[in-house]
Amino acid sequence: MNGIGFIKGMLLTLRHFVESYVDDVRYGFKKYSPNVDNFQQRQGTQAAGVFTVQYPDEKVAMPERFRFVPFLVVEDYDHPERPGKDWCTSCGICAKVCPPQCIWIVRSNDPATGRPVPEPEAFFIDIDICMNCGFCAEYCPFDAIKMDHDYELASYDRTTSHIFDKDKLSKEFKYWKTIAPNRAIDEAQARGGWEHKDAQKAARRGGGAADSKREEVRARKEEEQKQPVASAPVAQETKPAAAETPAPAAATSGGGEKPWTDSEEERERRKQAALARKAARASKRE
Ligand code: SF4
Ligand code: SF4
Repeated sequence: MNGIGFIKGMLLTLRHFVESYVDDVRYGFKKYSPNVDNFQQRQGTQAAGVFTVQYPDEKVAMPERFRFVPFLVVEDYDHPERPGKDWCTSCGICAKVCPPQCIWIVRSNDPATGRPVPEPEAFFIDIDICMNCGFCAEYCPFDAIKMDHDYELASYDRTTSHIFDKDKLSKEFKYWKTIAPNRAIDEAQARGGWEHKDAQKAARRGGGAADSKREEVRARKEEEQKQPVASAPVAQETKPAAAETPAPAAATSGGGEKPWTDSEEERERRKQAALARKAARASKRE
């Protein structure tokens, strides 16, 4: 009969309306308390009725699989062997599968040998172009890029502030374990442990991650940079005989606020050098 559906709909709305007040009484009007637990309880499966989320004072809890823009996983800053180390190996798979092509990666070169190093020197994502599809996170073979829950990224700048660089994208592994605990456990089981695949391989070889050849070369290079130029010959005495690399012409500061990275100046210099190399390669191809 005509009008039955309309009446059913109105009754449903009325039921929600009444349930809202019944629920208020059930929770003793606790929903108005600033206590986060009350708010979470109100959003639980037992809650009924309709209620308004007082955003931004209140925020609806994000489900684990919610995804916004990606972030890069780095080792925890208090990790005993690899503090702040990138999980990304700059393999470039994420950049290839990204449908709108908003990822740009520059692979690092070892400053001592000039050989490619499996970690990104620069990593950019234009989050205005990113369509939050999550392909990059799905395809990454190293669990190094994940979809973030942070959705409050609006700004008035439409030019550069939404092109996220490596600093802005990097977050500790423990952050991922916090926002997606179940997925983190599943991934760790698939990986064979909590550690990065490379760290696990190095541990199986028996030397630990810090003993890998690349880490050795890098540590030596950083040590050389810390030495004044005049003392370079003394430092060379402690090096293996095969290491004949000359001392750097200008000893830049190897310190910096974060012990796991180069200084800001050094990173900026390496970044600019990488961009120049990339531009040169691009002009050669044209
Ligand atoms: S797929 Fe993963 S490891 Fe490869 S470049 Fe992207 S983030 Fe890095
Ligand atoms: S979420 Fe999708 S669009 Fe965004 S960077 Fe990853 S692959 Fe590209």
